[in-house]
Formats: sequence, structure tokens, C-alpha cells
Amino acid sequence: MTTLPSDSGVTALLAACRNVSTDPADRARGGVDRSGYVPASIPDRIIYAESTDDVVQALRLATHYRVPIVPRGAGTGLAGGSCATAGSVVLDVSRMDKILSIDPVEQQAVVQPGVLNAEVNAATAPYGLFYAPDPASTAICSIGGNVATNAGGMWCAKYGVTRESVLSLQVVLADGRILKTGRNTIKGVSGYDLNALIIGSEGTLGVVVEATLRLRPQPLHTATVAAYFADAPAAARAASAIIDARIQPSILEFIDGGTLAAVDAMMGTDHARRGNAFLLAQTDGYGALLEQQVLIEAITPYATSVEHTDDAGRAAELVAARRNAIPALQLLGRVSIGDIGVSRKRLAEAVQGLAEISTRTGVKIFVIAHAADGNLHPMVVVGNDESITEGPAKVALGEMFHLAQRLGGTLTGEHGIGLLKQDWLEEEVGALSLELQHKIKAVFDPLGILNPGKGI
Ligand SMILES: Cc1cc2nc3c(=O)[nH]c(=O)nc-3n(C[C@H](O)[C@H](O)[C@H](O)COP(=O)(O)OP(=O)(O)OC[C@H]3O[C@@H](n4cnc5c(N)ncnc54)[C@H](O)[C@@H]3O)c2cc1C
Repeated sequence: MTTLPSDSGVTALLAACRNVSTDPADRARGGVDRSGYVPASIPDRIIYAESTDDVVQALRLATHYRVPIVPRGAGTGLAGGSCATAGSVVLDVSRMDKILSIDPVEQQAVVQPGVLNAEVNAATAPYGLFYAPDPASTAICSIGGNVATNAGGMWCAKYGVTRESVLSLQVVLADGRILKTGRNTIKGVSGYDLNALIIGSEGTLGVVVEATLRLRPQPLHTATVAAYFADAPAAARAASAIIDARIQPSILEFIDGGTLAAVDAMMGTDHARRGNAFLLAQTDGYGALLEQQVLIEAITPYATSVEHTDDAGRAAELVAARRNAIPALQLLGRVSIGDIGVSRKRLAEAVQGLAEISTRTGVKIFVIAHAADGNLHPMVVVGNDESITEGPAKVALGEMFHLAQRLGGTLTGEHGIGLLKQDWLEEEVGALSLELQHKIKAVFDPLGILNPGKGI
């Protein structure tokens, strides 16, 4: 349990730190993320750390004065993880934004936490290498935030999520000590895997100040397929047929008809005229064209039309439809982005179940999904003056979770628990697991000053 700091404690902490903002507009911006959650108040101050020393200093003082600290990267989170209220101080690491080294032989890059995801790929592309975890927010989210949420993305279908691409970390603990986790070898099993524990810990165990990333060789060939379907269940069944065909797409994304219409309205494209559901698939590597052929054969029985291309420009246009899906829906109203995961064979049942929840609750639900991972993003859209944390939106969110559970799945595939999904966490992981997680938190952060009330 966190003790609220005394005013003099906050003042003393802030006096000893540099780059502290007191500006109310800055504090309001720095106390929200992209989840649509509106905190009841704004944080007391924002500290803009520019170095590991700044983070160490801030956390030492926060421990001394018992000040709750909310770590912040780029603020694109969708679970309320970096939201902050009065009585807390935001520790923003976005200015720690340097790529420290790239080793093309070992295929590794060492980066500070504020580096944007897309910047890693821009820097490593000249070496013929890429960093695989690619959230749709790649241009605006930070590596530190990706590590803290164990972010996923489209290429995770083949290359795995953030945890599979982070070799080691430097983490400042609540008391200011610097912990090194992981190792820069591909293999290594000495001791407990604290690297894996930090990844996905949502800023509750420490502040990531450096990450060594594993890079992959850029595939020489990429082949793209765009398929349209009469309805969403047909597209979901086609996605399962691809998995059944025993090929490994590098991208397999599902978009429903309502979302296609929103994307068209924002982008001036014509996807919705071509079908009521859409699958985007890519295969890559030396066998890309062979795999593409098998993929087309697998989905053709379900599709109303199938387009394929190996032209990079056309492929980028098709990928943009998926990357712009969330911003397009955010133009329709306030959006609560669900993030359930189900077994890949049960995608069609999940899509059907979501339609039933929408009918039952009267809440509009749009669906996009990383289909190869069984990770669906049901998007609840309400009016701009309606709540996404109370009323029908909350009922729909709860029903979605129970749907995922019924299908043997999970509450969150990649966005994290943050603030918004805590009500259902124990139901998924069980009381014993949650008790142990709280004990682990207490070992790392005995005073409970790091992102209190988030994650677990
Ligand atoms: C349009 C859009 C599309 C998106 N698509 C995807 C997607 O495809 N896949 C996906 O996984 N996510 C997606 N997201 C969600 C979001 O981009 C990710 O969760 C991302 O990893 C958050 O990074 P950030 O830098 O913005 O972190 P923030 O929002 O600043 O923080 C997120 C969490 O990480 C903690 N944190 C941040 N930095 C650090 C640090 N250095 N040390 C310790 N803790 C830290 C915060 O306290 C918070 O709990 C999307 C978001 C948007 C707006």
C-alpha cells in the first residue's frame, strides 16, 4: 500500500531534480495515454529524464520522500498504464532517445528507452536487419513502453512478441539501484529469468533505461495477399484454414466491415465496397511465393475475391489499412480497445460471440485481429461524452473477457492490464498467482512507489 507523500516531500524531490515541468497543460497531457481513460485529476509534476543518472536521482529521492512515480514513454498505451493523478509525479523518459550502437555481426542494437520503435528499423535497415515487434503504433511508441507492455504487432505472427526480441536490459529499481537483466548471447539459462519478468511489468518493478535488442535479417522476398469476404465469420474461418495449411505467414491481419468503412472514410480507399471483412496476409523469406500459393489455395473457398502482389508500394497501401484502423475508429467517438486472445482455431467463434455481445449490450463493437496469434481487438465505440470505464462499455468489456475465458483465452494479448482491466485479472490468473505477483512486486518495490495501482 502506498503512503501519500507530504507536500514538502514532493517539493524536496522536485527541487533536487532537473527538467521538472509545473505547467498545467503539460501535466494534463503527461497524465493520460491513448486508452480514452480520463483521470479524475492531473499529476503534480513531470520530470523529463535525460540520462540514467537523472532516473537514478529521481527514484532515490522518490523512495526517500515516498512519492509515487509513474514511468512514461511516449504515452500511446491503451490500458491506462501511464495515466497519473494528483499526488504522483510522472517520470518521462522520452528524451532518452539515442540509439547507442548497432552490431551487424551479432545482429543486435543497444538503445535508450525513448527511442521510437520505427526509428530502430530506420537505423538498422541499411545493415539489412530489422527489429521484429512492430505495433501498429510503431511511428509513435517507444522501446521502453514496448518492453514494459511486452508489445506485439503484425510481424509477431512469425517472429514473436517483444519478449522474443529483447536480450538484456538495464533497469533502475525503486531505490535507485541499477539492475542488469538477461545477457547478450542467444542462449543462457543461469538463474531466474528476470529479463522476462521485467518485460510486460508495466512500469511496476523498475524503469527501463537501456535495452539490447535482437535484430533479424530482412527477408529478401515478401509476398502479399488481400482477400475480401461476405462476412466476418467467413474471414475468420479462412484464417484458421491458413494455420491448418501448416505455413507460417509473417503477417495475418483481420479487419471487419465496419472498421473497413471507417478506414475508407479516413484514407479515401474503397475496401468496404469490396467486402464485409478483410484478411491481409504476407509471407516472407526464400519460400515467400511458394507459401503465398498455398495460402491462396487455403482461403479461396471462403473468399469473394483475392488479390496478390509482390509490389512493395501496393503492399504498403494494403498494410496501411490495418495500421490506420485504430485512428480511423477514434474519429467515430471514444474508443475502448479490447485485446482478448483465444486459441487460433476458435477465431470464428470469438468473432461470432462479439457480435452477440454487441446485440445484447447495445454497444457498437468493431473488430480487428492479429489472426495468426488469435489476438482480437474488439473496439467498443461510444459517444465522445460517454464513459468507457462505466455503464454499457464496461459491461461489454466484461462480457468480452468472459467470452475469451469460455474459449480458453486471455483478457489481454499485448496491451497489458494497466488500470482498465484489473477487475478481471484474478479471475484469469487465480488467487495464488496474484498473491505471488504481489509478493514479487514487494521484493522489487517494497514501498509501492512505482506505478501504484497498475498492472497487478
Ligand atoms: C494507434 C495505436 C495502435 C496501437 N497498436 C498496437 C499494437 O499493434 N500492438 C501493441 O502491442 N500495442 C499497440 N498500441 C499500444 C501502445 O502503442 C503500446 O502499448 C506501446 O508499447 C506503448 O509504448 P509507449 O512508449 O507509448 O508507452 P506508454 O504509454 O508511455 O507506457 C505504457 C506502460 O509502460 C510503462 N513504461 C513506459 N516506459 C517505461 C520505461 N522506460 N520503463 C518502465 N516502464 C515504462 C508505463 O508506466 C505504462 O505502464 C497501439 C496504440 C495506438 C495509439
